[in-house]
Amino acid sequence: MYVLETDAGPYLVDAGWDTEEGWSALTAGLRALGTRVEDVRGVLVTHSHLDHYGLAPRIREVSGAWVSLHALDAAGLAQFRADPASLSAALLRRAGAPEAEVRKALDDIGTRSGQDAAPPDRHLTDRERPDVPGWDLTTLWTPGHTPGHLCFWEPRHRLLLTGDHLLPRTTVGMHQPRDETDDPLGDYLETLEPLVRMEPDLVLPAHEYRYTDIAARVGEVRDHHAARTALAVSVLREGPVTAWQLAGRLRRSGSLEGLRGFPLRATVSRALVTLAHLRRLGAAREVPGPPPYWTATARLQRCPGVFPG
Ligand SMILES: [Zn+2]
Repeated sequence: MYVLETDAGPYLVDAGWDTEEGWSALTAGLRALGTRVEDVRGVLVTHSHLDHYGLAPRIREVSGAWVSLHALDAAGLAQFRADPASLSAALLRRAGAPEAEVRKALDDIGTRSGQDAAPPDRHLTDRERPDVPGWDLTTLWTPGHTPGHLCFWEPRHRLLLTGDHLLPRTTVGMHQPRDETDDPLGDYLETLEPLVRMEPDLVLPAHEYRYTDIAARVGEVRDHHAARTALAVSVLREGPVTAWQLAGRLRRSGSLEGLRGFPLRATVSRALVTLAHLRRLGAAREVPGPPPYWTATARLQRCPGVFPG
């Protein structure tokens, strides 16, 4: 998380996990800056994931600060209240996982119930100027990682706060496609060039470390997705696959062997996201199941060489 100092009091970008450990780290950090959590005036949350939104309602309770989030992600908060086990089961079944694997995944999750999170006070959309005195902040709507992810641009100091949108090392995952036309990866890729054109002096991500060369990082991220997409195309050209099977083929080891819990769900989710992207490009088609599987379209079969490109 980041602190924006103002004469009126501190404003925060992101809030951290809602745990006692998170709370102690936050209060100690603010004390080290000579301020207090009680003085916080606003909490600008980049997206709905609970390692970002988690403490925002508690900070509001002790300080009276407003909490903001994009409307699409405010809707997404409700999803965490739902039963996470059935969400995971739905994801794996949709990917065509064998029923034994679905049951194993449910065992991993156990009976943990979803966390409740109070809603934000303000909804921010693209190119808004949140009210943070002394700072010239503009929101940039950057969907992909979540439907309503926001970055914040500060032209005076040439700072770009990227949340989970662009981390220096990890290539972030995308949200699950919400319907047959949704393409979270395509939306994500479209946001990258405008961010490079901002020419920030410093990029402030929500994880890992700050960095300066956004063009180089965007190049790496593009290469990563292009390579995965090309690999998925070559698998589809061999014949129909389930997303579960594709997820294995996209791994270096060529299989999902040994994967469990969150890494397994994330890997399967990424395969579904790649397939949704190929569907939007007109290269893949989903055939309803069970299990649902994916085939190359006639357009892809006709297209020589590498696709897309
Ligand atoms: Zn996230």
